[in-house]
Formats: sequence, C-alpha cells, structure tokens
Amino acid sequence: MNHRIFLSGVLITVISVNCFAQQKGGDPKETEYYTPVPKIVTPGASSSDAPSDAIVLFNGKNMDEWVSEKDPKAAAKWILTDNAMMVNKSAGDIQTKRTFTDFQLHIEYQIPANITGTGQARGNSGIFLAALPFGAGGYELQVLDNYNNTTYVNGQAGSMYKQSPPLANACRKPGDWQSYDVVWTAPRFNEDGTLRSPARVTAIHNGVLVQNNFELKGDTPYIGQPSYQKHGPCPIKLQAHGDKSEPISYRNIWVREL
Ligand code: MG
Repeated sequence: MNHRIFLSGVLITVISVNCFAQQKGGDPKETEYYTPVPKIVTPGASSSDAPSDAIVLFNGKNMDEWVSEKDPKAAAKWILTDNAMMVNKSAGDIQTKRTFTDFQLHIEYQIPANITGTGQARGNSGIFLAALPFGAGGYELQVLDNYNNTTYVNGQAGSMYKQSPPLANACRKPGDWQSYDVVWTAPRFNEDGTLRSPARVTAIHNGVLVQNNFELKGDTPYIGQPSYQKHGPCPIKLQAHGDKSEPISYRNIWVREL
C-alpha cells in the first residue's frame, strides 16, 4: 500500500473515532431546556401586516396614534389618502403619542412617481427612531429618493444620517411602495447623564440589510458632530422636510416593543 494513502486512512480513522467518542460521551439533554416558553405571536398574513403583539401606529384609516411635533397636544395634520398618509410640509413633523425604548418597527413609504428635484431635495423625509426635544431632534434613518439620484453617501436612503451609509442602495423606483424593517436599541445613560451604552440599529430596506447592528455616535445633526444627551423613552417621529419636491406618503406602520 502506498504509505501516503495508509497515513490518510489512519488520520480519518483517528478523527472519526474521536468525534464518535465525544458524541457518545455526553448526554444531549444536558444542553436542552424547556422554560421559559417563548410567547406565541401570530405572524401577519404578509410581511406588511402586523403580528398579533404589535402596536399598529397607522392602519390607513386614521392618524389617532400621531400628533404634531411642534405642538404634541394638537392632532397630526398630514393628509389621509387611499390607505396612506401623505406628508403635509406646512404642518411640519409628526410624532407618535406613545413613547418607546427598544423596538422592532415596520414602515412603508412611497416616493411619488412624478418626483422632481435632485440630491437631498428629492423625496426627503426621515424616520427619527427616537425624537428628542433638544439638539438635532433625534436619530434619523434617512428617507430619500436615491433610485437614480446621487448625494453624499452618508445621507442617502438607508443611512443613519451623516453617520453610516447604507450597506447597499436598495431603493425601488419612484411610485413603488418601499419598506423599512428596523431593530432599534435605545442608548442607556448613567444617573449623572454620561453614556452607559450607545444606541444600536439594524435596518432592512426592501428586504436588503442596510444597517447591521450599527453603533451610533450620538444624534444625527445636519451640521456638526453627533453627541449624546441623556433621555428616556421617546416618540417615533416622521420628518416633513422643507424641500420643494412632491410630498411622499407612508402606510402600514407597526411596532413591537422589545
Ligand atoms: Mg431626512
């Protein structure tokens, strides 16, 4: 016998015997447990539909879960259209009545088919995963038409604004409905206001991963560096951007608190 083949045979035998011995030596039950039992959640009929334990923030019928950002006692004055709500730029940003800490968010938006403008002035909006009453106003996941429109990459759709470009440009063409699925871990603060743990975000844009557990450096200002200021649970805010392009719409918004 060729001694190389013989040695290979010996090696394979040693490895197999060793694996078998390891499998045989332990009790598989030692590494299995049965409690606590995960709660039962009935999934939505499609990825757009809310699972049974979600809070529905917008179902196409009314804006009862939303208020004006400028005056949180006033109703949100965006425009209800065909199971969607369209940005009303003169009414400004809107935010949820409820506040949240860590959550899973589903939201859909549509850039109008007749969109005009270039760069940041083309379908600009944004999802503030926590709306803050100070500084840059929170942590913005950018909404923008970048189907065929260039801008600074850390400000394009799917970016955490001015901090983290998306891992891919997954924009659909204007007129199509698009989705974000987001996992948000809020920052935590010490008693004295110093940061204990930064915010983290995972975002999937139209089924494509665009933010992979990104650790934020702070809020997302237009000008200047990000920073943290101590805060607790916050509303989720949608941006009415001041550009001149045609207003975008949102629909199917739901959140699961984590
Ligand atoms: Mg924006």
